Amino acid sequence: MRFGTRETRDMIRQEGGCVLNRPTIVAGNWKMNKTGAETRRLLIELSNKLVGMTPRAKVIVFPPFVALETAVDATRDTLISVGAQNAYWEDSGAFTGEVSVPMLEAVGVTHVLIGHSERRSLFGETDEVVQRKLARVLASTLTPLVCVGETLEQRDCGETESVVTAQLREGLAGVGVERAGGIILAYEPVWAIGTGRTASPETANDVHRLIRRVLDGMFGSVAAEIPLLYGGSVKPDNAAALMSESDVDGALVGGASLDAASFAKIVGSAP
Ligand code: PEP
Repeated sequence: MRFGTRETRDMIRQEGGCVLNRPTIVAGNWKMNKTGAETRRLLIELSNKLVGMTPRAKVIVFPPFVALETAVDATRDTLISVGAQNAYWEDSGAFTGEVSVPMLEAVGVTHVLIGHSERRSLFGETDEVVQRKLARVLASTLTPLVCVGETLEQRDCGETESVVTAQLREGLAGVGVERAGGIILAYEPVWAIGTGRTASPETANDVHRLIRRVLDGMFGSVAAEIPLLYGGSVKPDNAAALMSESDVDGALVGGASLDAASFAKIVGSAP
């Protein structure tokens, strides 16, 4: 069985005396980096490092669209799953520049990022867009990884709770309880993405607890099954402390996922 695929969703983690059906996940968002050839090289290097480590976390990488086919091929029979950084909600038609969910399924990816802060701030994605994309992905074989998080201005104005709560309530509106357990969430404070400024483990965990409460209100007991990743300048030297928090189920890593040694160290930090 390949580690890091949907078959391992049921991996059991002991936490605080109760058994949770929640895997630890370390995901790498490559953003607009790496050609096909570079993708193959990085994934071969990464999978060689992971083989020697027997990691405790599921590993997912999100290369650019044009490198996905290469990535799926390079990770066959490895510990690594492959996801896309975006997907459109329509299946085909006059939507220039977009890529559909069936196209991604045909390529063989298993995950899709939805609502990354760069999509929201640079490409105008709203919670309604997130909602539409999420609905389409949940109706497919792919697993969505939905990102939420506040800006520095919002944090400084004391709006973290209201912003994150609204993103969850609106972005996940219409998701039925029966599908909610198939979502992965990432809390990514915008002020920590690509800035080198990380949320402290306690700050991250506080927001993760808030997210879990909101999810509980929306989905009841299913909320406990939804993995909550932290993202924002996760590096080899802070990953272990962040991931050891009670409600941090892993990491979404940007910059440090572009280097096999750094990313493998972060994967190796998973509790
Ligand atoms: C990201 O792109 O999701 C991210 C968290 O980036 P970085 O780790 O570089 O802050």
